[in-house]
Amino acid sequence: MKITERKCKCHAISMLADDPNVPIQYNHKLNEYYLAFGDNGQAPLYYCFSCGGRLTKSKRGQLFTKPSVREKTKITEKIKEARNIDDIVAILGEPDERHGEVLHSMEQKKKYGMKNVRQTLRYTSLAKTLNLLLQGYEDNSFAVMFEGKFKPDAASRIEKECKPKES
Ligand SMILES: [Zn+2]
Repeated sequence: MKITERKCKCHAISMLADDPNVPIQYNHKLNEYYLAFGDNGQAPLYYCFSCGGRLTKSKRGQLFTKPSVREKTKITEKIKEARNIDDIVAILGEPDERHGEVLHSMEQKKKYGMKNVRQTLRYTSLAKTLNLLLQGYEDNSFAVMFEGKFKPDAASRIEKECKPKES
């Protein structure tokens, strides 16, 4: 399926974001609109729900490195024989971060097919362009994920760009 790159021209979202009674807001640092909910909930909006066009180009991608295929392949190759998370730790060594359980309600599990997370392990010093994430579930299955690394330089650059100019 091809994602449409047609831009939103109806401005419905930006008009709603200007209205303080509507829970849609604009984040100028990231150049993106989001749905605001609860205390700090934010769900980014990438497409206009009125005309279906693409909204502003988010800067979110600039804040993180793009995981390189070469590094992904190298790690995948190393751990391909592993049958569980312990096997991976035996191969790669202790992770940089270990996080505990994440529990979901019965309703969430039924409705969305979610599983309780037993542990999440993160390796941040294995590769230049990515972090490796391992998640172990209640049924002993596990998932291997790659995420981009946060780029503090880009974040402070965007911060500067967005500062109102002194007159
Ligand atoms: Zn639109």
